[in-house]
This record gives sequence, structure tokens and C-alpha cells, in this order.
Amino acid sequence: MIRSLIDLLRNLQSEEDCRLFLENIRWHGVPVCPHCGSKSEEHYKLTNGGIFRGLYKCKDCRERFTVTVGTMFEGSHIPLQKWFIA
Ligand SMILES: [Zn+2]
Repeated sequence: MIRSLIDLLRNLQSEEDCRLFLENIRWHGVPVCPHCGSKSEEHYKLTNGGIFRGLYKCKDCRERFTVTVGTMFEGSHIPLQKWFIA
């Protein structure tokens, strides 16, 4: 158990990895809009300077969201890794 957690953290070296991991456990890989509840693989992925950083735009209500909306991560600058350790 502890060992697998250490292995997990070893695989979550970047914010990007943590985000993908969170998306998997929260959405099972399919983005869910927290504003209207729409679940779709076709939500738009918004890029910043050509780089996708987890910001989606709902194809139904057109609100923007990330996997951390509505969680303790929202608006915080605490690295995601610390959350997994806690
Ligand atoms: Zn929506």
C-alpha cells in the first residue's frame, strides 16, 4: 500500500502528470463540465501559447473549467503532489 503510493508519486513528477491522474480518477478520462454536468469527450480543449494545460470549454454551456474546479485545488497554488501525500 505505502509502496504503491510511493511508486505513484514517483510517476507524478509534474503538474501535468498530476492533472492527468486527477482527470482519470475524477472523470475516468472523460471531462465532465462542473457547470452543467455535461459529460463528453468533445468538450473543447483550450490552449495557452499552443500548450494545453487542462483548461476545457464546455461544448454545451460554453463555460470554462478544469479538473480542479470545485476541489481544494481551485485557486490555490499548492502543488498537486502535496494533496496526494496528505
Ligand atoms: Zn457545461
